[in-house]
Amino acid sequence: METSTHILNTLQVEDIRKQFPILKRTIHNKPIVYFDNAATTQKPMVVIDALSHYYMHSNANIHRGIHTLAEEATAAYEATRTAVQVFINASCTEEIIFTRGTTESINLVANTWGRKNIQEGDEIIISEMEHHSNIVPWQILCEEKKAVLKVIPISDEGELLLDVYRQLLTSKTKLVAITYVSNSLGTINPISEIIQMAHNAGALVLVDGAQATVHLDIDVQKMDCDFYAFSGHKIYAPTGVGVLYGKKALLEAMPVFMGGGEMIKEVSFVKTTYAELPYKYEAGTPNIADTIALKAAIDFMRETDVAMIHQHEKELLEYATKQMLQIPNLRIYGTAENKTGVISFLVNNIHPQDMGVLLDNQGIAVRTGHHCTQPLMHRLGIPGTVRASFAVYNTMEEVDRLINGIQKSIKMLL
Ligand code: PLP
Repeated sequence: METSTHILNTLQVEDIRKQFPILKRTIHNKPIVYFDNAATTQKPMVVIDALSHYYMHSNANIHRGIHTLAEEATAAYEATRTAVQVFINASCTEEIIFTRGTTESINLVANTWGRKNIQEGDEIIISEMEHHSNIVPWQILCEEKKAVLKVIPISDEGELLLDVYRQLLTSKTKLVAITYVSNSLGTINPISEIIQMAHNAGALVLVDGAQATVHLDIDVQKMDCDFYAFSGHKIYAPTGVGVLYGKKALLEAMPVFMGGGEMIKEVSFVKTTYAELPYKYEAGTPNIADTIALKAAIDFMRETDVAMIHQHEKELLEYATKQMLQIPNLRIYGTAENKTGVISFLVNNIHPQDMGVLLDNQGIAVRTGHHCTQPLMHRLGIPGTVRASFAVYNTMEEVDRLINGIQKSIKMLL
């Protein structure tokens, strides 16, 4: 293995790995190599402990009770809101809405802001590299409102064609809904520029931050996005909790999403008035335990040092890319200049699933298929890819195992 000057040294990575109990597992009698981090990350012990601590010591419904357990649960839940606010630099906690994840956050905006503000003939712009969850909600809305969905094309390298984007923006554009980082290609889009161009045209911007939040420093005020969506489970937190950030004035003006308990001020059979932000959008008993554990995940990232995590992932990407390109007939999809730790590839005409099964037999977990980006796969003219995606606990030695694993699989398949 090549020596490297990566910032997280071997001992530090070993320390981090010890915090993730699942990494002790063997798969088919081999130590696990987990390279499916873009689908979901593994959870450190502090996150698992936060879950069990809540259920063992503070389980109660929130915002309702005056008893001690209810107060403790409410305080812990609201502490996560503050942690998220600081983590993404929102201007206040009212701008942080808890959802089930990115998908629900995007659907919330489509169903509230979208239903209210999109009229016949209006235009919404997305891109060719979007995840289905940033396509389908807008398609549903456009169908209902007779609005027009426009798509920014990409280059063969997997970068957005910004000149075409400029031309797609018109006075009818009401929203640009765009991913910050592509889950299939790893491309980091020039988000500030995209937002600035949309704002100049009078459109709002929703940023799908599902893949970006774990890899990049997020500052929603500096970025100046109008909405930002992400999922806890992709940043070392549990599944079932996510965030919608929205600028306060926008969230205040939008109609409610789901109706029920918690989101009301007063209910009568004649008229119901709604709660203030952020509770207006949080109907019913929320996912209390997982939301509390989201704070533990954010604390874990901050304590590990977000900048070091990012540098480590970058070096894994560079090392893996270099090694992979030495494998004959291996083609990497997504060669943008600015990328996160995602490598999508194919070898000859080997089906991604066959490669995935053989790698799993060697203890290596990768993703295969269309990665919920079917239009992108159509654009690339392929059914899917094999995708390896990196996280803070991955090592150069694991990359070596992947390279060996691919070579072994090729020998078996060709
Ligand atoms: N957007 C992108 C870019 C994603 O990668 C994903 C998940 O893979 C999503 C949206 C949807 O996230 P979730 O399934 O957590 O709602």
